Amino acid sequence: MVVTGIPGVGKTTVLNELQDLAKQNKFDLVVLNFGTVMNEVMRELGKDLHRDDMRKQNIEVQKKAQELAASEIANRSGHGTTVVDTHMFIRSVSGLWAGLPQNVLTRLNPRLFVLVEADPEQIAARRRSDSDRKRERTMAEDIMFDLQWSRATAAASAVSTGAPVKVIRNDAGRQKQAAQELFQAIRSVMED
Ligand code: AMP
Ligand code: MG
Repeated sequence: MVVTGIPGVGKTTVLNELQDLAKQNKFDLVVLNFGTVMNEVMRELGKDLHRDDMRKQNIEVQKKAQELAASEIANRSGHGTTVVDTHMFIRSVSGLWAGLPQNVLTRLNPRLFVLVEADPEQIAARRRSDSDRKRERTMAEDIMFDLQWSRATAAASAVSTGAPVKVIRNDAGRQKQAAQELFQAIRSVMED
């Protein structure tokens, strides 16, 4: 499973709730954060960076780390369900760059893509208050563009893999319901 959402959408919060739900239901599920694994890979490549500075590196360096991170995540995936917390695209130094290009998709082989979405105004507010992160673009118009670009790249991922895309709303105070919906979607694709 691949769960994506633009910065500030509350994806990590929903995934924490999802982990609680999985535990309560004795459902074997592990969440792996792509950025964290990529950060470890970059450190091994000699680049010890803040997670929000990776996207400012040369694109070739990022591509290499991205592919290694995808392989590492595939290796770490066990018998249960692996949920990868990541992005449909990254605002890299060179432009809008796919978080899930073909070489990554081949390695992760996801059965479901999830897009977590929220109201642009709420995302803007979350970005402004997220002081431990280096969040840019706090205008609602910019955020609208990012939401659209996420959908466009999600569509591309759906076509190239044949896996479905589920859109989940995470409006203010709704993270528990969002996690419930996500849990149901995951269970429904894992059933067969
Ligand atoms: P996050 O903590 O989810 O905001 O991710 C932190 C950083 O990890 C992002 O800004 C990217 O630089 C990097 N990252 C996360 N997922 C991917 C991906 N699929 N491909 C490339 N870089 C990624
Ligand atoms: Mg996050």
